[in-house]
Amino acid sequence: MTVNLYDHVESIPDFPEKGIVFRDILPLMANGEAFKQATAELAQFARERGVEMVVGPEARGFIVGCPIAYDLGVGFAPARKKGKLPRPAVSATYDLEYGSATLQMEHDAIKPGQKVLVVDDLLATGGTILATIDLVEQMGGIVVGCAFLVDLKDLHGMERLKDYDVKALMEFS
Ligand code: 5GP
Repeated sequence: MTVNLYDHVESIPDFPEKGIVFRDILPLMANGEAFKQATAELAQFARERGVEMVVGPEARGFIVGCPIAYDLGVGFAPARKKGKLPRPAVSATYDLEYGSATLQMEHDAIKPGQKVLVVDDLLATGGTILATIDLVEQMGGIVVGCAFLVDLKDLHGMERLKDYDVKALMEFS
């Protein structure tokens, strides 16, 4: 039986600040059937594009990305918050509402020409995923797809990703 994934996303008003509705996907991850179905759908998208490596940003990108990589039988490489990696790293900085943030990957995590799926739980403005894409491309990787559980469509991340092949399983305004 098919699960309705929307039944497993909770909308939390006024988090992290007044006026913002936070879409909490942890209930989806806590439900075995829903998590399995979401993983299978995104893995199928990746399989059709010949993905050889999966990359996701800290932290929920790890939770969504790892089972997809496992399903495909390919590797997973994390894009970590600055300062966590022990080996030489590539960096990408992006704007936040207040200030900026930097993501890093180990400098040889992706081989030139490798076909990569970048994954996160949710697409909002697109800043996080574009920084992750930047890291992959700095190493010569080819981003053949971007995958999300949720697209917050009013924040127009999809428009910033127009040059990429993007799949989101759910949309919220
Ligand atoms: P963006 O960089 O696209 O503006 O924001 C996306 C990032 O912020 C993702 O890594 C995501 O985990 C987090 N994020 C922003 N808003 C939400 C939300 O409503 N729910 C969840 N689960 N994550 C969010």
